[in-house]
Amino acid sequence: GVELELMANIDLPEELSQYERSGARGIGLYRSEFLYMETDPHLPTEEDHHRIYRRLIDAAHPFPANIRTYDLGGRKLAREMMETSEENPVLGLRGIRLTLARPQIFRVQLRALLRAGTGKQPWIMAPLVSRVEEVRMLRATLDEVAAELDREGVERAATYRLGIMIEVPAAALSAGVFAEQMDFLSIGTNDLIQYTLAIDRADDSVAHLYDPLHPAVLNLIQHTIRAGAKAGKPVSVCGEMAGDPLLTRLLLGLGLRTFSMQPASLLQVKQQVLKSHLEDLVPAAQRLLKNTDPDRTALLLGRLNG
Ligand code: PEP
Ligand code: MG
Repeated sequence: GVELELMANIDLPEELSQYERSGARGIGLYRSEFLYMETDPHLPTEEDHHRIYRRLIDAAHPFPANIRTYDLGGRKLAREMMETSEENPVLGLRGIRLTLARPQIFRVQLRALLRAGTGKQPWIMAPLVSRVEEVRMLRATLDEVAAELDREGVERAATYRLGIMIEVPAAALSAGVFAEQMDFLSIGTNDLIQYTLAIDRADDSVAHLYDPLHPAVLNLIQHTIRAGAKAGKPVSVCGEMAGDPLLTRLLLGLGLRTFSMQPASLLQVKQQVLKSHLEDLVPAAQRLLKNTDPDRTALLLGRLNG
């Protein structure tokens, strides 16, 4: 009797046919940086952005298409935007930090997004947020862009829903503050694991330590889900954890109700959901979250799934 949302992650518009076959109810994450990587070394034009966002919004309708503002920097580079060479790019100018540092480039994306959402309510989400000031600057830029479109007499979405990704431990710990201020939160577990455990997600030599089941990671996820529930704001997971059928029951037990994943994972996750009884999952998830003996983790997860 509990309603869940299973949504799809899209990197490229060519994946929309998979989206349509998957049975997903909406797009929970569109990674717009792929557009910049495609047109590199040139920047995408406003029309390039607009064309894609329209397609996504139309394909997802009546469900939302959650368009993430570009998450470049770190290891996702577009030459035109990166003037610096950084010692430690994963902790450097990436995500919202780069976005806010390149306002002229960002405004092109926002203009297209607001235009593409005309007559609908677009969902806009910013990556790698760690500070409330970043949200304030993001809103100010959106307001300016909306006013500019109005002055030009260009049609645009009258309203939008603005959310952030929870990917930095600081943001997860401050989830209560962000949940109050935003329309929704989406947990990016890929980065959240990386930054919580100080494990570079692309470094093979520490890949065995990249552990979604580390109690610290599970605590941050649960804290974020609870903060969203308390503020009455939806919380999703759009990192790889959401598409791993071995983790579906755990996430349900932690209170998650919106999952966004690669379209190919949807069926398996749905099967897990349909086999699950929530009342059994809540105590089982707590046992895993409170487990201090790493040797018991696999056993507890097995019981949860068994
Ligand atoms: C994440 O970090 O979990 C996420 C969904 O973002 P990306 O994988 O694009 O960094
Ligand atoms: Mg991320």
